[in-house]
Amino acid sequence: MRAEALALGLTALLCAGASAGDLGRTVTFGSAGDLSFSASAARGTSAPGVVYDSGDSDPIGQAWDTVLLQGELPDASVTFQAARAGSSNWVTLETHRTPDGRFWAKGRLSLSSGPVRLRALAASGAPAGTTAVYGVTVFASSAKEAAAAPGPAVPPRGPQDPSAPRPLVHGRAEWGAVAPTQPWAPDPLPWRVTLHHSDGRYTRTLAESEAEARFIQDFHIHGRGWIDIAYHYLVDPEGNILEGRPEGVLGAHTLGNNEGNIGIVLLGTYHPPVNDKPTQVQLDAVAALGRYLVRRYGIDPRMLKGHRDYKATDCPGDWAYAKLDYLRLAFAGVPASASAARRSHGAPRASFVWRGVPSWDGVRR
Ligand SMILES: [Zn+2]
Repeated sequence: MRAEALALGLTALLCAGASAGDLGRTVTFGSAGDLSFSASAARGTSAPGVVYDSGDSDPIGQAWDTVLLQGELPDASVTFQAARAGSSNWVTLETHRTPDGRFWAKGRLSLSSGPVRLRALAASGAPAGTTAVYGVTVFASSAKEAAAAPGPAVPPRGPQDPSAPRPLVHGRAEWGAVAPTQPWAPDPLPWRVTLHHSDGRYTRTLAESEAEARFIQDFHIHGRGWIDIAYHYLVDPEGNILEGRPEGVLGAHTLGNNEGNIGIVLLGTYHPPVNDKPTQVQLDAVAALGRYLVRRYGIDPRMLKGHRDYKATDCPGDWAYAKLDYLRLAFAGVPASASAARRSHGAPRASFVWRGVPSWDGVRR
């Protein structure tokens, strides 16, 4: 585990299709919202055994009954509790922890709006290692994965090439995916691509990425209540590409805009305060995947967006979002050196002509 992965604020939670009023709300705790703690920096002594107390979160306007968090839990004896602001009715969260310390925890309170407060307890009173919470979300347990909704008009397509070569992808069986809990909804002809970050581990090896994929799938199915991992592809800092949902089925990564939308997630947290950086091999892998998708389905490269282009979220993080223009050019097959030259000469964004398709502006950016 990297040291910088431990200095974590509360940002989006395994950034998928959640948003206010429907499938969930990301919880923030003000400017001091850092939910990592260790024995040497325990915070909060509100009761015996309490090693951390978040204080009240920022206001939450919508009704929620479920609180869900995920992160790193090196000490298996640490437990989490949640309560509504001003209440001492603490509910112990059910914790799911992998042997190497990745965890998510979930608890149910009565359905109501208002801030949440979290605390952690350790049997020993001095938890081993540093516990880090990557993100917290609240939602109404009645909310399920959204079905297909009418989306914006599909922009003009380029030619489709069923023989377009796909880069090496580590399939679901390879990383040990479980079957979806319900059949996937078909979504056979994607016309856009959305980039996310995972708000999770910045993995260093394929084995770590496969473990993280299993964790995210478990978190999305059993934490969020979705039918499968939200994304179609996961790309790690080593440039490995892992298969999420198969192409051709509806994702669950961009609420209200999943139709025709391939979701690609970068493993890591590409946003302050963590500030993971996309690596060149990782960008190369996304570019190769994008060039394939463009050729295979006739997707306009300009239809590569960041999650934040569709809703208020940090996702995919500032450091990844800054690469989108570069990636659009790469999707279009413009060599990196040429795109760098264009930028250095101040060329406007997305100034390239893609297969003669005129400028497209049917979807807000
Ligand atoms: Zn996202």
